[in-house]
Amino acid sequence: MTRIDIPQVRKVVTAIPGPRSQEVLKRRADAVSAGLGLSFPIVVERAGGGIIVDIDGNSIIDMGAGIAVVNVGNSAERVVNAVQEQVEAFTHTCFTVAPYLSYIEVCEALNRITPGRHKKKSMLANSGAEALENAIKIARHYTGRQAVVVFEHSFHGRTNLTMGMTAKNMPYKEGFGPFAPEIYRMPMAYPLRWPGGPKVCEEEALEYVLHKIEKEIDLKNLAAIVIEPIQGEGGFIVPPKGFLPGLSAFAAKHGIVFIADEVQTGFARTGHMFACEEENVIPDIITTAKGIGGGLPISGITGRAEIMDSSHGSGLGGTFGGNPLACVAALATIATIEEDHLIERANTLGKVISNSLYAMKEKYPIIAEVRGRGAMQALEFVIPGGNEPHPTALSTIVKFCQDNGVLILSAGTYNNVIRLLPPLVISEDLLRDALDILDKAIASV
Ligand SMILES: *Cc1c(COP(=O)(O)O)cnc(C)c1O
Repeated sequence: MTRIDIPQVRKVVTAIPGPRSQEVLKRRADAVSAGLGLSFPIVVERAGGGIIVDIDGNSIIDMGAGIAVVNVGNSAERVVNAVQEQVEAFTHTCFTVAPYLSYIEVCEALNRITPGRHKKKSMLANSGAEALENAIKIARHYTGRQAVVVFEHSFHGRTNLTMGMTAKNMPYKEGFGPFAPEIYRMPMAYPLRWPGGPKVCEEEALEYVLHKIEKEIDLKNLAAIVIEPIQGEGGFIVPPKGFLPGLSAFAAKHGIVFIADEVQTGFARTGHMFACEEENVIPDIITTAKGIGGGLPISGITGRAEIMDSSHGSGLGGTFGGNPLACVAALATIATIEEDHLIERANTLGKVISNSLYAMKEKYPIIAEVRGRGAMQALEFVIPGGNEPHPTALSTIVKFCQDNGVLILSAGTYNNVIRLLPPLVISEDLLRDALDILDKAIASV
């Protein structure tokens, strides 16, 4: 039943894409909207552990985990068993029509595992964007205010509100406007690219941003400050120590709801259950998705009970939110993380990754920075001698990895970042093999 029986070795037996994948990808081009991207041109047959097997028989090392989703692995044993049992019991009633236990248990689990020991409540939705949409609805209702602060390089989703909150125009926003009003974008504490460099960033970014917020926004109208504790799509940007606690304290002082978007950083990815824990930041609301359901679509909005309870009955909801299959998958995922010690595992993998990435940085002047935390780490590529982004290096490296059977994701506002997000159940041998290929790929530039 489970897929962990897939041999955990990289094996490339055809050109990638192979002939059978090419055939199916032709059908894709004919049937599927051209507006959808394609990072790795294969057609998947099965996946488990750290391997994706395609229909041509290639075994690809998965360094993306479906964008930080299958932290517990593809078709993880507990997830498969729970979903199989649930699918035969009932598939849907709509939680707000006729409720069921697993939804309540996911909320209890989220209330328990998210930062802070205060009374919390949760609601469930289907996607990360929907979690952000609901978090903003709730924060606005609770505060009676409208304005929302977001940051440069942020990614919060592809719905209208979350597109507006997302920083990068191409490809996320171009031609898709108009965007929602009352969204204010602040500079991100991006150490590598802060004017004056990392040290200046650490000294002045927080003060600069708070000053800008106070001067440009009526604080009495500011509902929420929303930030990814480590920015995902933006290129794994880690703000300097003190930045997140400073924003959170400012929000508390002015009655602003501090929202941590942990859609990408959550569920053991960074070597904590949630990235906020690194600096003991306790968000008023935390949004979760991606890694929560072991691959099933589910998201969570968890926050202080008085905030989460502030809207009128039936003001929140959705037909599919917290679907029973996704709920049992989330419970199985959380159990897997806790019982299999995947937080510690993320730290172990993180050491292997950072040792290897720092060794590459010593060798290759196109690497400007190694950054991230745990099993969420990145390399940013520049033209040697300065800080000018090097996007062509990135495409060469990604292609080299692809040809050699390693799925690696890119990121970054300047399309010059490689991000590593392996499933937390990947074997160390497989991880080292993938890092070896990455090293060779960089050497080839
Ligand atoms: C992916 C992501 C989202 C959007 O999630 P979807 O499920 O794709 O809607 C929001 N915030 C962050 C930080 C993300 O990484």
